[in-house]
Amino acid sequence: MPFYPPSWVPKLPFDPPDHISIEHFMFDENYGRHPLGYSKSPFTCGLSGKHYSALDVKERVDFLARGLAHAFGWKPNEGSEYDKVIGVFSVNTLDTLPLAWATHRLGGIQSPANAAYSAAELEYQLTNSGTKILFTCLPLLSVAQEAAKKAGIPEDRIYLLEVPKALTGGKEAPKGMKTVDDFIREGSKLPRLEPLNWDSGDGANKTAFLCYSSGTSGLPKGVMISHRNVIANTLQIAAYEKGYRDTKIQPGTQSDYTENALGLLPMSHIYGLVVICHASVYRGDGVIVLPKFEFTSYLQAIQTYKINSLFLVPPIIILMTKNKETLAKYDLSSVWSIFTGAAPLGKETAEDLQAIFPSWAIRQGYGLTETCTVVCSSSPADIWFGSSGSLLPGIEARIVTIEGAEVTGYDQPGELLVKSPSVVLGYLNNDKANKETFQDGYMRTGDEAVIRKAPSGHEHVFIVDRIKELIKVKGHQVAPAELEAHLLTHPAVNDCAVIQVPDDRAGEVPKAFVVKSPSVGLEESDRMLARQIQRHVEEHKAKYKWITGGVEFIDEIPKSPSGKILRRFLRDKEKESRRAK
Ligand code: AMP
Repeated sequence: MPFYPPSWVPKLPFDPPDHISIEHFMFDENYGRHPLGYSKSPFTCGLSGKHYSALDVKERVDFLARGLAHAFGWKPNEGSEYDKVIGVFSVNTLDTLPLAWATHRLGGIQSPANAAYSAAELEYQLTNSGTKILFTCLPLLSVAQEAAKKAGIPEDRIYLLEVPKALTGGKEAPKGMKTVDDFIREGSKLPRLEPLNWDSGDGANKTAFLCYSSGTSGLPKGVMISHRNVIANTLQIAAYEKGYRDTKIQPGTQSDYTENALGLLPMSHIYGLVVICHASVYRGDGVIVLPKFEFTSYLQAIQTYKINSLFLVPPIIILMTKNKETLAKYDLSSVWSIFTGAAPLGKETAEDLQAIFPSWAIRQGYGLTETCTVVCSSSPADIWFGSSGSLLPGIEARIVTIEGAEVTGYDQPGELLVKSPSVVLGYLNNDKANKETFQDGYMRTGDEAVIRKAPSGHEHVFIVDRIKELIKVKGHQVAPAELEAHLLTHPAVNDCAVIQVPDDRAGEVPKAFVVKSPSVGLEESDRMLARQIQRHVEEHKAKYKWITGGVEFIDEIPKSPSGKILRRFLRDKEKESRRAK
């Protein structure tokens, strides 16, 4: 018997449509979005204040699509979506989502990459996704150019998204390099595009976003996210939250309630992309866009733009609880809701924050790239610290023990399996991972969960452990297999395994167990060698992947008879040695 959302959770208002694009869904009021004329500016720059109205954004998307279609000869109803892959390697900007929606208008795909990536990491994604053209921003231009060159993307297919002056250090864009605004200007003079002639099922089968996730094991893989997946989760979130948002409607107001939401988390990650940039905008909220995290500008943006909902990850909450004096310098009274996800939020941290802000609803959500985000979330009326709340409408969950037995009762742990219209199409060109991950309509999350009954009587999901090979550093994915493959290219490393270790600030960080290669001289000190190995990662990988959990030398990596690394053995060994300290 699967678990279903509790009775209080409202049903989906309608079946997520499968014949329209995300762009159509986001701007057509017939699909329930907040009336465009009454919506807040969908995106406002939290540093400069620059913004466009919802109606202006709709027009910009239309012109941008015309400009792109003209420049590349793309037609909305011709060719596969994989002929029209636009890569985005940028910090958050006002135009990141409008660019995605313009791409969708043409039946194409946006593949967003983590802005912290090194050139080699970006090259991997550009090549793997078959990116045809790349949008970046001035501060990341040289990395983008290096990666694009290696991926065979011509220099004249790299374009710029605008970032606030504060980020460019006075640098000007190279002469002749086109920007989003240039495409919009050109598009405004071009004729209307033909509509997308999609039949029923096209929106469910066509990829709209290619985000990268390592899933339960191995290297990062392209996750094929369909139009309907994004539409479904947007509707699921909107339906789940409707009840208590309705309680905030002021009598006599012209339109219903909208609020300002924090747009700090990366738009390249599914949480920022769907929960913030789609669900909030669909509900008519304004997203206050911050291109990077800096504690005081974050607090200043809350005060200036009277932000109501903070979308965060646990490390930012930890930083807040440890810096009460700094918080006190800002007026944060507009905030009523905190939503955290991407990694577990400790009960104690939630309690610490609640002690500082007793009126805030501190909510936790749980989701994955592969479920096109939120599976469950706590509701303001039913908060239970440590829990990830209740299932969203339209979601079925099963819990299966390691032995394969179905869990039907409370407090029994097992792997969480999820069925939802938001569960993605699969991994790009990876049958093996698809077979392992998507089974009988369910997605195997690789997370260990239990269902508990809350004091309210409703069922809550608790994520109690992670079974899969994944490290979450400040909410970012780090794939052990990727680091292991890289470590093996160091001459001193004969074999290795990477696991996560707890970290006060980042939640977890990678630690490497290394078997030295026979060529390493006896006179070589372990400390120096460990540092060399760490540096080898630092030179080639994004900062959040660095082996800050340390390097430990061992004689042999524990492996199963089939050669699989027994990570749990290493994790237990690590726990034991930490306990002994
Ligand atoms: P991503 O695809 O990057 O969003 O990563 C998804 C993974 O992040 C999940 O499979 C979990 O391991 C972890 N995760 C996300 N949200 C939570 C949460 N609320 N509690 C614990 N782990 C989480």
